[in-house]
Amino acid sequence: MSNKNNIKTRIKKGDTVEVIAGEYAGNRGKVLFIQPGRNRAVVQGIAMVKRHMKARSQQEPAGIIEKEGSIDISNLKLVCKKCDEPVRTGYKILEDKNKARYCKKCSEII
Ligand SMILES: [Zn+2]
Repeated sequence: MSNKNNIKTRIKKGDTVEVIAGEYAGNRGKVLFIQPGRNRAVVQGIAMVKRHMKARSQQEPAGIIEKEGSIDISNLKLVCKKCDEPVRTGYKILEDKNKARYCKKCSEII
C-alpha cells in the first residue's frame, strides 16, 4: 500500500511560496519546478547548493556554481498576493465549470 501517487499538492510551477518549516523557514520565492514523484519543489533562490562543474568547453570552464536544491512540498505554503502572507487554499468550481484555487482568508482566486 502506497499513497505516493495520492499526495495532493496545491502548489504549482510559477507560484510564489513561503517556506514555513525547516532550515529555510521565512524565505519566499517562485516555484521553478515540481518533482511530483518525490513530493519536492525547487524554489528560486532558496536552498542553494554548491555544485562542482566539469569543464564542458573553453567558454564553460570547470568551477563551482550555486544552484537551487529541492524542498519538501509540505514545507511550502502558497503566498496570497492580496494578503501578502502564506495562506491556506481551497478549490471551488466556477460558473464556467473551471476549477479555481482560492485563498481561504480573503477568497481571492490565486
Ligand atoms: Zn488572500
